[in-house]
Amino acid sequence: MSEWNTRTKLVHGGTRRSQYNEVSEAIFLTQGFVYETAEQAEARFIETGEDEYIYARYGNPTVAMFENRIALLEGAEDAFATASGMAAVSGALTSLLKAGDHVVSAKALFGSCLYILENILTRYGVEVTFVDGTDLGAWRAAMRPDTKAVFFESMSNPTLEVIDIAAVSEIAHSVGATVVVDNVFSTPVFSNAIEQGADVVIYSATKHIDGQGRALGGIILSTKDFIRGTLEPYMKHTGGALSPFNAWVMLKGLETITLRVNAQAESAQKIAEVFEGHPALERTLYPGLKTHAQNALVQTQLGGKGGTVLSLDIKGGKEAAFKFLNAMNIAVISNNLGDAKSIATHPATTTHQRLSDDQKIELGIAPGLIRFSVGLEDTDDLIADLTQALEASQA
Ligand SMILES: *Cc1c(COP(=O)(O)O)cnc(C)c1O
Repeated sequence: MSEWNTRTKLVHGGTRRSQYNEVSEAIFLTQGFVYETAEQAEARFIETGEDEYIYARYGNPTVAMFENRIALLEGAEDAFATASGMAAVSGALTSLLKAGDHVVSAKALFGSCLYILENILTRYGVEVTFVDGTDLGAWRAAMRPDTKAVFFESMSNPTLEVIDIAAVSEIAHSVGATVVVDNVFSTPVFSNAIEQGADVVIYSATKHIDGQGRALGGIILSTKDFIRGTLEPYMKHTGGALSPFNAWVMLKGLETITLRVNAQAESAQKIAEVFEGHPALERTLYPGLKTHAQNALVQTQLGGKGGTVLSLDIKGGKEAAFKFLNAMNIAVISNNLGDAKSIATHPATTTHQRLSDDQKIELGIAPGLIRFSVGLEDTDDLIADLTQALEASQA
């Protein structure tokens, strides 16, 4: 299977059939498994072999198919599926760190990721230094002999800065730190963070992997050593397991992810190009634009693809942004991304509401900023709708 090209891996990778030889992957909606004998139960608790299960918190055949399929896509030795993206982020960091360890993190983070680093890890005696993720000198200066991990979102939310995975990994590895990358915005279609040097890669499967806004899920990809040695003991005892039904949704999502994400990114590129310089906008942020600060890195790290999300900074602040949102007829006002439906978000009052005004300014979350996740609708329809909503924003 590892010889297959991506699209074949995504349709067939990891498939295990039951005695009925079903075509579509089976949903093993069971919490437990029956042992033939007492001796077999005893043996399985000593060592669990392939295709042997004990309890769905430890593992489940449908969940394993999802883990194996995405590991194949990423070229990772192993993977562990979790109940949500945040269970993946918190599980990867908490299983790795202990009191006295030092972490260096980019400061432009999804609100819940920031909460884990700023408010939770520090409570347990982990010291965290925040840096500007695009400044390699700042990463270098922050490294210490006791730096155990570095953490960053390879494309930040909602300002879409792109961080150099290979360069930051090299800096981190020079002090022996483990590189943990939240790769959600880059998507598993455009980015291969492991190949570029990351040690642990995380996705919220809730986003592009499901891609149709149905279920929560997460995935952690790494070496067999990290997944089985460090992560699994922590996850199976703390309970962040992915439900078999949600794993099945994610398996089906993987079958179509390249088609969806490529179409969404193509549409996003077109929309960004159309609206760049629009009189109602202060700024159009999209990594695929030549004017984006890290566009050269986008060429090497993401194959030139800017992803499926763009951010529009509307002139006139919050009032204009709200007029824009309320005037849209196609995109919905919500907070998911990577969905088939286009979704517009006002980060300053929703996903990033918790941040202080100073933090918002520092991270570029302007009062007029709208995050726009491009869906699978017709691009021309979206452009027409955005055009009239931008007009309405200035009225
Ligand atoms: C959504 C998101 C998460 C959290 O994922 P959930 O599935 O909602 O728990 C983490 N990181 C990033 C960058 C995200 O966009």
